[in-house]
Amino acid sequence: MSENLFPTAYDPKELEERWYPFWEAQGYFYAEVDDSRPTFCITIPPPNVTGSLHMGHALNHTIHDIVARYKRMKGFNVLVVPGTDHAGIATQVVVEKELAKEGKTRHDLGREKFLERVWQWKDEYGGIILQQMRKLGCSYDWRRERFTMDKNYVRAVLETFIRLWNEGLIYRGYRIVNWCPRCLTALSDLEVERDEEGEPGHLWFIRYPLKRDEGRGTGDEFVVVATTRPETMLGDTAVAVNPEDERYKHLIGHTVILPLVGREIPIIADPAVDPEFGTGAVKVTPAHDPADFEIAERHNLPRVLVMDDEGRMINVPERFLGLDRFAAREEVVKALQEQGLLERVEDYRVPLGRCYRCDTPIEPLLSLQWFVRMKPLAELALQVIREGKIVYLPERFARLTIDWLENIRDWCISRQIWWGHRIPIWYCLDCNAGKWAIKQWGGEERYHFAEEAKAFAAIEPPQQCPDCGSSNLVQDPDVLDTWFSSAIWPHAVLGWPDETPELRKFYPTDLMITARDILYLWVARMVMTGVKFAGDIPFRVVYVHPTVLTREGKRMSKSLGTGIDPLDLLDKYGADGLRLGLIVQAEAGQDLRFHEERLEMARNFGKKLWNAARFVATTWDGERGTGDETTNVSTTPSLATLPKRWILSRLHKTIAQVNAAMDAYELADAAKAIYNFVWDEFCDWFVEISKPALQRDGGQGTGDKFAASYRCVLITVLETALRLLHPFMPFVTEELWQRLKGLFVPYGAPTKETTADRSGVNSEQALIVAPYPEADERYFDEEAERQMDFLMELVRRVRAIRADLGIPTARVDIVLACDDETVPKLVTENLWWLEFVGRIMNVRFVKMGETVPQAVSELFNGVEVFVPLTGVVDIGKLRERWRKRLSELTKELQRVQERLNNPQFVQRAPAEIVDAERQRLADLQQQVATIERRLESVKLGE
Ligand SMILES: [Zn+2]
Ligand SMILES: [Zn+2]
Repeated sequence: MSENLFPTAYDPKELEERWYPFWEAQGYFYAEVDDSRPTFCITIPPPNVTGSLHMGHALNHTIHDIVARYKRMKGFNVLVVPGTDHAGIATQVVVEKELAKEGKTRHDLGREKFLERVWQWKDEYGGIILQQMRKLGCSYDWRRERFTMDKNYVRAVLETFIRLWNEGLIYRGYRIVNWCPRCLTALSDLEVERDEEGEPGHLWFIRYPLKRDEGRGTGDEFVVVATTRPETMLGDTAVAVNPEDERYKHLIGHTVILPLVGREIPIIADPAVDPEFGTGAVKVTPAHDPADFEIAERHNLPRVLVMDDEGRMINVPERFLGLDRFAAREEVVKALQEQGLLERVEDYRVPLGRCYRCDTPIEPLLSLQWFVRMKPLAELALQVIREGKIVYLPERFARLTIDWLENIRDWCISRQIWWGHRIPIWYCLDCNAGKWAIKQWGGEERYHFAEEAKAFAAIEPPQQCPDCGSSNLVQDPDVLDTWFSSAIWPHAVLGWPDETPELRKFYPTDLMITARDILYLWVARMVMTGVKFAGDIPFRVVYVHPTVLTREGKRMSKSLGTGIDPLDLLDKYGADGLRLGLIVQAEAGQDLRFHEERLEMARNFGKKLWNAARFVATTWDGERGTGDETTNVSTTPSLATLPKRWILSRLHKTIAQVNAAMDAYELADAAKAIYNFVWDEFCDWFVEISKPALQRDGGQGTGDKFAASYRCVLITVLETALRLLHPFMPFVTEELWQRLKGLFVPYGAPTKETTADRSGVNSEQALIVAPYPEADERYFDEEAERQMDFLMELVRRVRAIRADLGIPTARVDIVLACDDETVPKLVTENLWWLEFVGRIMNVRFVKMGETVPQAVSELFNGVEVFVPLTGVVDIGKLRERWRKRLSELTKELQRVQERLNNPQFVQRAPAEIVDAERQRLADLQQQVATIERRLESVKLGE
């Protein structure tokens, strides 16, 4: 290969655009059901169809594709199923915003037309994020892309609903839901965002007068209750105290008059009351608080709803009627003040929940909703997780999931929006006469059926009522929570409820790669539905990856301006740079504090690799390296020179280390091992050592063979490193591998036959399907590693001395003092490359302790290396320079020392800065000691 065919510059963008379409066109991403190799299947967490790649996605999909490519090269029939989620609320909001620009609301269009509009939007803009995954290099089976609103997927969702309904696991009932008065929908607990420390608010202390004749004899006039939401008092139906609370025991069973309303309500005892909160007596508002709802259930208290869906007051005295909840709060406080019933107000942090879509404060509200009974389903999941049938990485997430499952509550699955899977429940208007009304609901007219109304479930729209034959049927207007459909993702994308070949072949899947925040919301529910409906666990391993934070450890957020757009990073560093730079930061079990310079480092690594490959290609003389020759390297004495034995030993140990790390999903460790091997050991040492070797050919007897054997090892190690690195940096490795393809003889590839069977392409035609390197222990060579460590350290020490002498590139003679008799032989045999790499000319050997006049030395590994100065530098000037340097260093050392002695600095400065300063101190101390030692060694003759 001639030089002009191999560009000098590494241009990630250009080659990324070339290789992705090639891989895809060759069918390398596809998995077939009639492939006999072992399967490896992952279903990706479907991103919102409205979504765009954020840093969490970038990490998640980098991991997906690293694992997929690794397993593919290991000979597995790899299937990664991509897809998107219809994202009920999020998508509806996007399309509503579009309509708003035209001055319309969804009600102007009506349900059917609005849904058409959403589909139009989806076809045009939906799934941009899947294109972004392609840019990242994701090798997914795009033929099998799924969408949670596809016809077959909808059928699976409705089938799931019907089966749960038939088993009595779905019911309709009044429950307190998290209600967003702006979005006009119920939200799951997980869709409500709470600041853990609460938000600034108040605690109002209100006097509830005891009923007159009952108060007599107790000596009390009032019971004082504390609340953060005084407007809800209008809906109180009791006051509760803890039964053990001595302060209130005598009042249990008495009656108070609810201020402003005049309702008589009882004082009850319930163990759920926390005596530490407020005064220890709490108001009970069953229709507006989940804990109060439960107290009311236990005590059979009435529920009085005092707010409508839009947060306006209803069922309250005239003065408050129709007020918005926050206006009502002020008015209630004012009215209480007027009547002298407000005892005091305290500042208080309120555990307020906010809508995750629109940030409106959530109102806990009594509402007639659909629920799934979760206990029986949670039991199924608990069993398989407790038995360890599903492995969680890191392991602690299994424990957390078990805790969540043990304390599970019923799941509210109905949402009052249009975009989604409409609940397959039907009501007969005739059978339910008197049990329904048409109600306004956020600008929409809805049938409202009483709790006791009769309903039936059907996938296809029924023609007649199964009881009376009437055709006056109405479908429930709600749609299912988006998570209801994603809960069946792994088996549904493989074709369930049909017994498809895909389901038989790839289920249970092997791996679920997920962020921590959807471990309950999504992962735990998939385990339940998988076991329940598909008859087995949905995946064998759950890999919980780190959360990507800012470098200061803060949450990345677009609104806070702390978000980083991975698309900008793709532009700047290329997909390979983004992937490798991200994964080396993704230490298992901890959060990822994002440092952009790691991406720069990764891109530079690509450059380094490019240059090494270019060197190998352009110094080639037409021979092909063969596996046989490399095998012979360690057994043929004439060829078995130390650097080759060493690099092959290091290569195979790195392969072993990388395979072990990959199999344990410790991807950061695997990436770092490859990075260090390629950069330090291969590029910085072996490539340099090879340069003089490659020149030793022609007319020297064994010269030809010597050079050839180095070429052979160079190409072998490089080619193996490309395969090792491919899952992490797929583009640059494929490019280089293709360019070097003519230079090596392909290995007896384990996947060769099967890939040829499948698409007529041999494995040697693309790196993506080449076999992943396996370690061969025969190359492990402790002696070679020990000897090379010694020689490399010798070079480093000589370099350090030259740097201190101010002659970094000069060639020097050295004197080596040693008592170990093997050292002179070792050094002499390797002088051919030490001359070149270490710029060492002649070596003289002496015994330890012998003096070497006018020389600077370094002591290491039981030997002392001297660089004699006579004729090399002007000793007088050198001494002067060192003295000056010593005084500079000493001053700097004092400055740093003083800073660290200052307790204010140490206590107040960020830990990172203090640590850096301590490191600096240690470095300076080291430098001072070295210069002092140097000065000492040239004292003679002064
Ligand atoms: Zn909202
Ligand atoms: Zn009927």
